[in-house]
Amino acid sequence: MVLGELSGGIVRALANMSNATIVDQKVVTGCLDEISRALMQADVSMDLLKIKVLLNRSQNISFHFLLQRYTGKPSFTPEKGKPSVIMFVGLQGSGKTTSCIKYAYYHKKKGFKPAIVCADTFRAGAFDQLKQGATKAMIPFFGSYEESDPVKVALEGVETFKKENFDLIIVDTSGRHQQEASLFEEMRQLAEATKPDLVIFVMDSSIGQSAFDQAQAFNRSVSVGAVIITKTEGAAKGGGALSAVAATKSPVIFLGTGERMDDFEIFDVKPFVSRLLGIGDWSGFLEKIHDVVPMDHQSELLQKVSKGKFTLRTMQEQYQSMLNMGPMNQVLSMLPGSGDKLMPKGGEKERQSKIKVYMSIMDSMTNEELDSTNPKIMNDTSRIMRVARGSGRQPKDVMDLLAEYKRVAKVWGMVKGFKTCKKGLNAQH
Ligand code: GDP
Repeated sequence: MVLGELSGGIVRALANMSNATIVDQKVVTGCLDEISRALMQADVSMDLLKIKVLLNRSQNISFHFLLQRYTGKPSFTPEKGKPSVIMFVGLQGSGKTTSCIKYAYYHKKKGFKPAIVCADTFRAGAFDQLKQGATKAMIPFFGSYEESDPVKVALEGVETFKKENFDLIIVDTSGRHQQEASLFEEMRQLAEATKPDLVIFVMDSSIGQSAFDQAQAFNRSVSVGAVIITKTEGAAKGGGALSAVAATKSPVIFLGTGERMDDFEIFDVKPFVSRLLGIGDWSGFLEKIHDVVPMDHQSELLQKVSKGKFTLRTMQEQYQSMLNMGPMNQVLSMLPGSGDKLMPKGGEKERQSKIKVYMSIMDSMTNEELDSTNPKIMNDTSRIMRVARGSGRQPKDVMDLLAEYKRVAKVWGMVKGFKTCKKGLNAQH
């Protein structure tokens, strides 16, 4: 494959990402896999520098594309001294009340005069919860234990605080465990009555697949202008946030990062997108390869693989390079797309010990066994027993190694146009 074709492959992968309605982790991974595939098929005589330039370029394009897509201004930004009404919506348990208090507290520190109205008359205890949090943050609040009509409570609260010259009046609405018509009707009525300047949709980061539908359903009844994603501390979760943005066409403005009032961060799209793409990693990876594996050896290895010669020796060499590179998970996390699939499954320690076992077994194999492109050669009990004895391992370990070889060869085989010894492998079963 010549350079032009490789660029074409990368451009096609990026175009697929641009055409996707929702760009979530799956789409991004698909795009990166596609780019990796294009690279694996690339002419191996192309030097590392060119590959590096292409990788950087495609990474930059993806980065800017995603940045553009997820950077945006909320439909309204409150200003000090000018009264504004901000309505919070979301399912029960999403972190709405907590986020109302965090949002008020954040703005109070910036010099705003915030107040919160509890329009949740549905859930017993909602007002008490808000009261407790608001008192702690020293934010004035309004609510009712007797009135069951949320619209009445909301209107009265908003009017009261407007008269008292509060410039950021936050309306906390009720949620339901599930999306249901009555909830959306209530949201619509509340919005009609209080005429909010901004509706913020609050979403729990862990809801996963249903994020798009949920955000869209809320957006249909009230016009969402911004999104807050809660419970984002710990594992990096991205898909949900991106789906909510796509469904509401509104930006994420804050992230909830814990239960405390201060656990609230302005959403910064750059590190978020970087994490999603694994930015900076490809070039780092190539540099690392360059440092550890001598150039000649590298191209030899790639050449073999691209010619469809994935033998046990190729795998042995791959492992050796990986071992030379230091902590494997770190290195693997740098690999674009399916790089990770080339290594044994498991955590860092497990991988290291498996590789050590496999290496010792391969040390006891003959050149014929290591260099054969026909794995059937090992389909022989006497060979397996001999290798096991020679390496001081169990026959089961040898079988494990062969299964791993078969799995990795299949990964390479997924590369279009790459001729592995797939036939032979399949014939074993
Ligand atoms: P609401 O029903 O939507 O009003 O949700 P709540 O504000 O009552 O929050 C539900 C639960 O989630 C509470 O236990 C909160 O303390 C918790 N919570 C809210 N935001 C966050 C967050 O960003 N991180 C964590 N860990 N917990 C949160």
